[in-house]
Amino acid sequence: MLSAEIIAIGSELLTPQRTDTNSLWLTERLNSIGVEVRLKTIVGDDAGRLEETIRDALKRSDIVITTGGLGPTEDDITRQISARAVGRELVYHNPLEADLRERFRGWGREMPEINKRQAFVIDGAEVLPNPNGSAVGMLLKLDGKFLAIFPGPPREMRPMFDEFVLPVLKENSGGVTVSHRVLRVSGMGESAVDEVIAPIYKACPNVETSILFSRVEIEVHLTARSEDADEADAVLAELSEKISDALGHAVFATNGETMEEVVGRLLADRGETLSVAESCTGGLIGMRLTEVAGSSRYFLEGAVVYSNGSKMRALGVAENILVDHGAVSAETAEAMSAGMKGLSVSDHAISVTGIAGPDGGTDEKPVGTVYIGYSGPKGTRSVKFVFPGDRELVRWRASQAALDYLRRQILKLS
Ligand code: ATP
Ligand code: MG
Repeated sequence: MLSAEIIAIGSELLTPQRTDTNSLWLTERLNSIGVEVRLKTIVGDDAGRLEETIRDALKRSDIVITTGGLGPTEDDITRQISARAVGRELVYHNPLEADLRERFRGWGREMPEINKRQAFVIDGAEVLPNPNGSAVGMLLKLDGKFLAIFPGPPREMRPMFDEFVLPVLKENSGGVTVSHRVLRVSGMGESAVDEVIAPIYKACPNVETSILFSRVEIEVHLTARSEDADEADAVLAELSEKISDALGHAVFATNGETMEEVVGRLLADRGETLSVAESCTGGLIGMRLTEVAGSSRYFLEGAVVYSNGSKMRALGVAENILVDHGAVSAETAEAMSAGMKGLSVSDHAISVTGIAGPDGGTDEKPVGTVYIGYSGPKGTRSVKFVFPGDRELVRWRASQAALDYLRRQILKLS
């Protein structure tokens, strides 16, 4: 298996203000063709350290990929330093300068003289065109190893990698393809999931299975390598089906879909509509639902009803319910979802009311207590959760539980 390492270049990536996301994206792409990423480095705009990093990387790894530092300014040093690290000259490329001038003219500007720097490339490198920016990339083959150099902006680097470098690496990686599939599980803990599915995946040793915990769900990652992509996909499909059967309704996605996508598809397939009344989640559910393109087909509206006054005024929750049971109660959650459904004339409505913390908890209703209400064609009901975690986690878990409760209610109808 070929090994790769990625070098993210730029002093801003060493500050809390900017995150290196290029290496995550590249790793996913490299893994998909059976190349393993063994090391990632972030280097500031420092000539000495960068040269050393590139030299060392080329000693260790079959494939070295750098991103960033190809701009025209003084602090963009990748071009000179990578040339020095591989012991080659920078050569001037006339057509590149003509290209650059043309590009600037297209923007209605004259090319600043400093951009001439971007017309220099490492001797012997293949020039990788950049349709979305002024800095071209470079691909060098050195004693059977590859050095690929890309500009930093993701929207420039990604298409360049896919078009010019991925096919070359794929050809050299022995034709292995790696298929990957993610199942998502909600309402079960990590160890409970493992207990159920361990006997299943252990019987399938040619698939690498890992169980990962995220803030709102458990993810089961399945990876298969094969020379035949269809065969790998078939093996994953079979294992995925066995795992889904064993876990039942707790599996809400078998192809990496998010909860909001799954719920959205359920509603769209039925031609049904949804409205949401949110207290402690403050609009998070509405935000998640509307992140899905096409959500206007089924999502009618959401209300953020934080105060008792707004629960009464906007949703018609009766004052005596709030006084007798409190704002965080099954009765209030149910009155909220019923009120929302009536108000928006949707097929389904969900509501959330709870205590996200850190203050406001009592012995009877500790921080993390959340009631979720649901109103649908067959009436109104609610469920209580006590979520562990800080304010952010409680809010996310409440949003997930509400969407999952809705999913389960809809599925029961069918
Ligand atoms: P440019 O010609 O745009 O200056 P460049 O190759 O010099 O290209 P940089 O100046 O290093 O690129 O980075 C430009 C932008 O790309 C920055 O805004 C930076 O946030 C983003 N960027 C750079 N490296 C990364 C990375 N590893 N992950 C995500 N974003 C990055
Ligand atoms: Mg730059």
